[in-house]
Amino acid sequence: MDVMIRISITVACFIIGAILGSFACCQAWRLHLKEQGKKSPGKWSVCMSCGRRLKVNENIPVISWLVQKGKCKSCGAKIGSAELLSEIGLGSSLAFIGWFLYPTFIDALVNLTVANCIIYPLSVIAFLTALVLLWTLLVYDAKWQKLPVNLLTATNIFALLLVFLKIAWMLFNHTAGADLVQYLVDLVVAVTILAGIYLALYLVSRERLVGSGDWLIALPIALILGSPWLAIVTLFLSNFFASIYGLTKCAKDRKKPRRFQFAFGPFLVVAFIITFALSEILSQVVSV
Ligand SMILES: [Zn+2]
Repeated sequence: MDVMIRISITVACFIIGAILGSFACCQAWRLHLKEQGKKSPGKWSVCMSCGRRLKVNENIPVISWLVQKGKCKSCGAKIGSAELLSEIGLGSSLAFIGWFLYPTFIDALVNLTVANCIIYPLSVIAFLTALVLLWTLLVYDAKWQKLPVNLLTATNIFALLLVFLKIAWMLFNHTAGADLVQYLVDLVVAVTILAGIYLALYLVSRERLVGSGDWLIALPIALILGSPWLAIVTLFLSNFFASIYGLTKCAKDRKKPRRFQFAFGPFLVVAFIITFALSEILSQVVSV
């Protein structure tokens, strides 16, 4: 029974994630068109080639793309794999988080008090919003090698909201005092490790090593994780993935070696999702 509930929650998380992934990709396109000074398609989803408004059955995440073989029904123009990858990517990410954090989620629901009835749902909404914003940044950075300031600001605001909700949770559950002080110390160290390093690299290298947006995308990640150990794991994983990507690209370009730059934001976001999903397991390892 327990396994069935866990699988059901994981499947539900994938569906919600795929819908949010579709939304995030659309928002990235809208923002890009706006930055280019071009006309935004408005609030409806349209074909980027012929401009036709998409019907409901053409808007089903993953399924519509597969049924239409990645082409517009009217003009036959390619929809592009970014949309499909965004839907599958965020769907899998949320399913991964759901699978590993399901016991924590159920535990919090069982032990709900009156105050927590407000704080917990707000925390879930703030987390999902921050996650969608981070995913939009991932799509934008991967496609156009840029991190829009307004998106970064919004992500940081929701990450800060999560910090305040966590403090409120501690105060209402009478775990304040030593716990709260420890949490705040951990938070400052996590921010210094993750965002501080990228800010220092940006300032020292004058944008040659990392871009100006990298420390601003690392900041909300550090705020949400709120733990120095989890910040170190995210730092390691993001650099590990980026190194593998860089090496693969170098191997492909071996005949004509040249200097190349690539977006680092996507690696940070993917590393954050893995670390967050495994946070309970990792915290137990560290405490042992
Ligand atoms: Zn079309």
